[in-house]
Amino acid sequence: IKKIAILTSGGDAPGMNAAIRAVVRSALDKGLDVYGIYEGYRGLHQNKIKQLTRYSVSDIINKGGTFLGSARFPEFKDPAVRTECAEVLRSHGIDALVVIGGDGSYTGAKLLTEEHGFPCIGLPGTIDNDIPGTDYTIGYQTALETAVVCIDRLRDTSSSHHRISIVEIMGRHCSDLTLSAAIAGGCEYAIAAEIGFNKEELIQEIESSFAKGKNHALIVITELVTDVHQLAKDIEARVGNETRATVLGHIQRGGTPSAFDRILASRMGVYAVDLLLQGEKGRCVGIQNEKLVHHDIIDAIDNMRRPFKADLLDVANKLV
Ligand code: ADP
Repeated sequence: IKKIAILTSGGDAPGMNAAIRAVVRSALDKGLDVYGIYEGYRGLHQNKIKQLTRYSVSDIINKGGTFLGSARFPEFKDPAVRTECAEVLRSHGIDALVVIGGDGSYTGAKLLTEEHGFPCIGLPGTIDNDIPGTDYTIGYQTALETAVVCIDRLRDTSSSHHRISIVEIMGRHCSDLTLSAAIAGGCEYAIAAEIGFNKEELIQEIESSFAKGKNHALIVITELVTDVHQLAKDIEARVGNETRATVLGHIQRGGTPSAFDRILASRMGVYAVDLLLQGEKGRCVGIQNEKLVHHDIIDAIDNMRRPFKADLLDVANKLV
């Protein structure tokens, strides 16, 4: 391997820049040439590729987002489009690829390895912490800190106005962010995507706690579970207290990456280059029990689904 390329794909996450920096600098250190592919697989297809130097990644370790840009490019599911992308890589003499993204991006990387022989390594980049084969994804810890800051602010005003606040948290089908934010934010109710909820039971619980003297409440809920603004109306109609929903949305994606995410991203980036030099391909990097690991991408996606963290929900429920 002499020339490697790197791209970021799917939703952006704080710490992706630190991962790119680590891949670029550790590859240069090993005598490889490194190319940046801008805007994910779409940019690959459009030949948006530039050679990177160690200075291309100066002053980015502390920046959120990804300076390479990211994109969704469903056309990459088409084998003919992947063939065109492989030709673009070959035209630059690129031998191998590091992909930072989620499981969709991983699948694309694995297909490039299988169909066209390009060694690809996937790094887990998403705030959702929903990627198989790793305990933590790059960006998750930063997003959690952001969510907790937002919850703390909502607590101040909810408490002053005896208001009920519903906070919608990202995570798609994974409630790690919701449950951890519930504990750190001291929220009264945590609604997890994996478990769902019974609206009538929730309202009754709120009614009974307010009857005992409680005068404000914080409810955290994973995105996609229900229409939180309608839920707020339903709670207010029954309980009487003003109820408002706040969708944290993309606020959670931005911001300066935490030290944890920068370190995780740096370690994973260096590891990815080492794996390529050892001849590994179609692998995804993870951290499990504090150790860096790598798994076959498809095996990870099919067999290493991360279990629901019932223990976190239990702690959240016991501390209200
Ligand atoms: P994530 O990588 O965060 O899971 P997506 O699922 O949107 O995000 O995938 C990001 C990109 O990866 C897609 O826009 C597409 O270009 C590529 N991709 C996703 N799924 C596949 C697939 N099954 N086969 C090939 N490429 C895929």
